[in-house]
Amino acid sequence: MDTKKGRLWVVATPIGNLDDLAPRAAQVLREVDLVAAEDTRHSAPLLARVGSRAAMLALHDHNEREQATRIVEALVAGKDVALVADAGTPLVSDPGFRLVRAAREAGLAVSPVPGPCAAIAALSVAGLPSDRFVFEGFLPSRGAARREQLGTLVAESRTLIFYESSHRIAETLADMVTVFGGDRRAVVARELTKVFETVLDDTLDGLVARVNADANQQRGEFVVLVAGASGEGADATLAEGRRVFALLREELPPARAAKLAAAITGAPRKQLYEG
Ligand code: SAM
Repeated sequence: MDTKKGRLWVVATPIGNLDDLAPRAAQVLREVDLVAAEDTRHSAPLLARVGSRAAMLALHDHNEREQATRIVEALVAGKDVALVADAGTPLVSDPGFRLVRAAREAGLAVSPVPGPCAAIAALSVAGLPSDRFVFEGFLPSRGAARREQLGTLVAESRTLIFYESSHRIAETLADMVTVFGGDRRAVVARELTKVFETVLDDTLDGLVARVNADANQQRGEFVVLVAGASGEGADATLAEGRRVFALLREELPPARAAKLAAAITGAPRKQLYEG
């Protein structure tokens, strides 16, 4: 006899405030046979809170391939499985893409239980254009690679959304000034839905000053949103000038880097570097 196959539920969980767990998320976590969690110790209290007795299985970046095979076998055998991340929506800067793809390739049903996502929560309160946006996730941790990645986004006209950790928020904002220029509007959304939630809205120069002046603004979890390029920022020559300046800046003093970047690209030296 053909066994009824299970369903993979992709369940969003809170990004801080536990009351943000949707009633349907709680119900699914109670009813499934198995919960695949990024960190089982981290998610165990949430499961206990909703009265879930489901077995747990760890699924993280380093074991996702093997675990995906195992989970697909469980689904084929008729078990229902929920996938959760430590916080927010799975697959958004979190593991799960390989599992979802494996389940879909096996012809299994995959359903979302939507809910919190830090990027969308931040966008919803930033006051930056939200009709079109680009989610960039985490930037590279090394400065040179980070500036290079930012350089590819200089002329992007859609609102940019980044995730950042407390270790690098100050450096990342400083790099954004170097690459995008200090006048660009941006928002730093910190500790959303938690006790110390703050949303700072300023130019990039203003944000660097405010974050550097207050150690508390360097603690916690961050979403950084940067307005897309417009007017002179959307000027392709200036954008290329800024990108080349950021690269040369790795090896040369700023004034020399600006002079060369201006000569190479035709962008005005003064706008690349005021000094
Ligand atoms: N899957 C999650 C989601 O849906 O937002 C994101 C996971 S990612 C590993 C963690 C990053 O999300 C943090 O480093 C931070 O950049 C951002 N983040 C998560 N919770 C946040 C919060 N409460 N406030 C601001 N940023 C947050």
